[in-house]
Amino acid sequence: MLTDDDSDQSAGLRERVGELCHRSGVLRVLQGVRAWVRRDVRILAYHRVLTLADGHEFDFDLDLVSASAEDFRAQMRLLKQRFRPMRLGDVVAAMAEGRPLPADAVVVTFDDGYDDNYREAYPILCESGVPATFFVSTGYIDSGRPYDYDWVVHMILGAQLERVVMPALGLDVPMPASRIARRRLAGRVLSGIKALDGPAQTSLMTELETDWGMSRGGLHPDCRPMSWEQLREMHAAGFEIGSHGVHHRMLAKLSQAELEFELGASKATLERELGAPATLISYPVGGRTAFDDRVIRAAGAAGYDAGCSYICGTNPVATARRYGLYRLPVERTMGLGWFAAMLTLPEYMSYPTSNHVTDSVRDACSP
Ligand SMILES: [Zn+2]
Repeated sequence: MLTDDDSDQSAGLRERVGELCHRSGVLRVLQGVRAWVRRDVRILAYHRVLTLADGHEFDFDLDLVSASAEDFRAQMRLLKQRFRPMRLGDVVAAMAEGRPLPADAVVVTFDDGYDDNYREAYPILCESGVPATFFVSTGYIDSGRPYDYDWVVHMILGAQLERVVMPALGLDVPMPASRIARRRLAGRVLSGIKALDGPAQTSLMTELETDWGMSRGGLHPDCRPMSWEQLREMHAAGFEIGSHGVHHRMLAKLSQAELEFELGASKATLERELGAPATLISYPVGGRTAFDDRVIRAAGAAGYDAGCSYICGTNPVATARRYGLYRLPVERTMGLGWFAAMLTLPEYMSYPTSNHVTDSVRDACSP
């Protein structure tokens, strides 16, 4: 497992090497060479596109801000100039039918359904001519309510408490004074919550909101899901809208009935609201514990054609199993050079994560 320090050092090295390679023009040569020896599809994973005057003051989960509007525009231009942006549905259909895909095929995806996807990313995608897929948790759409994990971060950043006591996580520590330390604590709490089973996650969230007197009422302009009206507009403009479950729950941690509900109800709602088949899903929360063979079987039975994981990697074109597609997370701290280098040489330049691929997940992705 990577420590924070290892990860920071590794990220710093990738940033410097990426920038150097990008400026020197060597990436174009390497891209050509790689396309000869390896055919795979890169699927980029974004959450939010948001320009923050001061990230330190941001009241929600900073790790979910993937790029500023300016950085995102530069990334999409580079994608259009140097790669072959494609719709995920077209890539999946080609994989299913064994048809070849162009070298350097890249897919852009977004998870969760934040309204900055509509306000910031959608106009840039339109002007750049880059298709994208938006995976949304249908239970949040039109609700105005912040997502669970964002709310945990918000509570920890703002709570007036002496100590943070969460027996379910084995946590009993003084509440840090600084925002940096509180953000670090929030990261620790989120990791702990994600390790709990479904009912325990739900009850811990409810307890925190009640005990700390911080319910999610009211509007939070910095953390708002999209509306159905916005999604219908994007869908009519040719963008794909896929499922990210109903309540953004970790599917592998649910009972069979709950799992089938999250898969089936989100699909039915998308189809009702958008008037078109919903055949793509990304498994909420990501990582090696978010989905397993049971989830993959249930997703296929529910009528999905493919599922995206949040595990870092690329996808061999010849792959026959499409329910555990790897993605490349885009992070706020990535300069354009690093972004270009990650797309060119993803096996060396992707964002350093501590995700380990389990056998069943590897099997889900391999040819
Ligand atoms: Zn998500």
